[in-house]
Amino acid sequence: MSTIFDRILDGDIPCHRVFENDHVLAFMDISPISAGHTLVIPKERKAKLHELSDEAAAELGRVLPRIARAVCRVTGTDDYNVLQNNGRTAHQAVFHVHFHIIPRPSQTVGLGIHWEPI
Ligand code: IMP
Repeated sequence: MSTIFDRILDGDIPCHRVFENDHVLAFMDISPISAGHTLVIPKERKAKLHELSDEAAAELGRVLPRIARAVCRVTGTDDYNVLQNNGRTAHQAVFHVHFHIIPRPSQTVGLGIHWEPI
């Protein structure tokens, strides 16, 4: 079944691309949990992590730290979550393997909401 990420890979719909090589594409999440929320996807079209070939998995593992470093650099924080959902009951909404890199800047909750001490 085709997903929105297939359409991004095919160039049918735009994305804010932050990294691309022959095996991996990374782009900004359209509905970010925090500023800089980035999605990293293999170009291999599989729904779940355990379905990936060894080659696609190895390449994802190779570039994820590099993309995380870039996210840290542009967001100015080195605190972040890496999230990866597999299956409907695990809250996967797009059935193409993806890793979320979600920056966690201090004193920021959500998107650009800065909490002052009460
Ligand atoms: P999941 O719940 O792990 O499957 O997360 C899917 C993510 O894809 C969500 O954070 C969405 O905001 C994101 N998303 C859905 N459609 C697009 C898009 O067209 N561009 C960028 N991100 C998208």
